[in-house]
Amino acid sequence: MGTETPRRSHYSFAVRFDYLAHTLGVTETLVYVNNTSASLTELLVVVEADRREGSFALQGLQWGDGEPLEDYILEEARLRIPLRQALAPYQSLSLHIQYSLDIPFFEAGQVVYGPLNATARQANLGDWYPYIPPLDAEAGWLVYEPSGVGENQVYDLADFEVNIEVVDAPPGLVIAASSWGQQAGDRYHFLLEGGRNFAWSASPEYVVAQTVIGSALITSYAFPEDARQGQALLQVSADAVALYNELFAPYPHTSLAVVESGFFDGLEYDGLYFLGSEYFAAYSGAPTDYLTILGAHETAHQWWYGLVGSDQAWQPWLDEALCTYSERLFYERYAPELLPWWWNYRVDRFDPQGAVDSTIYDLAGFRLYTDAVYLRGARLLEDLRIRVGDEAFFAALKAYAAREAGRIARPDDFFAALRAQTGQDFSDIVARYFQEGSVP
Ligand SMILES: [Zn+2]
Repeated sequence: MGTETPRRSHYSFAVRFDYLAHTLGVTETLVYVNNTSASLTELLVVVEADRREGSFALQGLQWGDGEPLEDYILEEARLRIPLRQALAPYQSLSLHIQYSLDIPFFEAGQVVYGPLNATARQANLGDWYPYIPPLDAEAGWLVYEPSGVGENQVYDLADFEVNIEVVDAPPGLVIAASSWGQQAGDRYHFLLEGGRNFAWSASPEYVVAQTVIGSALITSYAFPEDARQGQALLQVSADAVALYNELFAPYPHTSLAVVESGFFDGLEYDGLYFLGSEYFAAYSGAPTDYLTILGAHETAHQWWYGLVGSDQAWQPWLDEALCTYSERLFYERYAPELLPWWWNYRVDRFDPQGAVDSTIYDLAGFRLYTDAVYLRGARLLEDLRIRVGDEAFFAALKAYAAREAGRIARPDDFFAALRAQTGQDFSDIVARYFQEGSVP
């Protein structure tokens, strides 16, 4: 059992996008593959956009053969669909979903929040479509409620085809997306194979800069007043891709989009990451700016989140500690003289406390959460590296990336990869950083 190679689910979208009205009309067809060894009698579809009052409106739902699907329940951002007949292991079924989205609009001066938002300058489309979450043999559907901190979603790999037709497009509209698309007039076509998700962003203002690293086209999209920063972030991202290609695994996609956004902080999607305008505005041109630190961090998510998935709600350290530590690796390679500064500025000055293996529900507030999960997480990885030595540590990172590529990794997988490279016991180190009694 379970020896079959998983086939990926497939999402295709026909989108009518009205930029000025910030609305979408979407026809989505999804082909879901049951990659578990159990038969399914119900499907669960996550509709994150439904969390915002008045944003998501379901207009139609049909089975793949066109038969209307009426006995569903949509509540609390989850669409539950009883199946007409059980879906056997490794079999697939398809659904058609028609919906409209009113993208939450924020006036100038308002605090923009959430990855699905529009302002007078741009529209950002993260988590804009219904998707089927991973199904764990023991834990069931990996679907969690948001918390005040961190991210709550977990994604399987899937294939995406996205067709966007822009209605009344403003002159010069540019669309950035999780893959590099084709444009013909007001129509755009994108394919992404083996991605965790598909995000996009549109603005008539973007200044675009590009470079190629290996087989990946890296593109930055910045507002005109931040064109210099967009160029700088492009370089940071390109350098980071080159380094992580070498240290972790080859970058799995052919493009990466780096998008300036009006919402706070950085946010990763597969093939695309957003970084808040505040870091562009604060950029002084020094390598010690947050633009550089976070560019290295968000780019690392393409490996720790994208290539190697994890449970962001219950084990957020698994990607965040690795991405914070990837900042350290970035400085180690490109500006080693700044390493003492990085440890102090990024980690030690906060005197971080808290268990590295905290969930997004354990710690109230951004500071407590990031101190424990990100900053002490980086310290945990540094101590492990010192204990096992560079050779074993980097071999373990590579083996972990190779073995868990396309999967949802667990902490045990990470520690097993490390143990496979060393005879050194490191359980005392993990015990110092983890909650009592939770050392794997
Ligand atoms: Zn992160």
